[in-house]
Amino acid sequence: MHEPFLARLPMGEDLLESITEAFKERSIPKASFVVIGAVTSAVLAFYDPQTRKYENKEFPGLLEIASCVGNVSERDGGIFVHAHITLAGEDFQCVGGHLMQGTKIFAAELQGIPVPGKTPIREYDEPTGLFLWAEF
Ligand code: ZN
Repeated sequence: MHEPFLARLPMGEDLLESITEAFKERSIPKASFVVIGAVTSAVLAFYDPQTRKYENKEFPGLLEIASCVGNVSERDGGIFVHAHITLAGEDFQCVGGHLMQGTKIFAAELQGIPVPGKTPIREYDEPTGLFLWAEF
């Protein structure tokens, strides 16, 4: 069983990729996590069930990571990170959504929490069009 860990993620790197790397390099296949910090730009997405696509939106400029939560499981034989994020601007208004690649770290502190038991595996789910955890 892996131990919970804290990690500082590197400035200028991609947030989603850096979270994924933190779990890959520790060989942790299933976990939950929290990140706080700030980003210099963000790409969020909203899933449209009609088109079955994620609609991306970019948010330029420095934004606080008020909250970023997610989980780690398996998809296509590898470690897969699913994260949602709430970002606050200097006017203290928040935006939020599904975290996409393209979000650049200013500073980020990750708390990784490995979980026991079987590793959930993502499989295509016809009713939603999403890759959700198969029953386990
Ligand atoms: Zn999502």
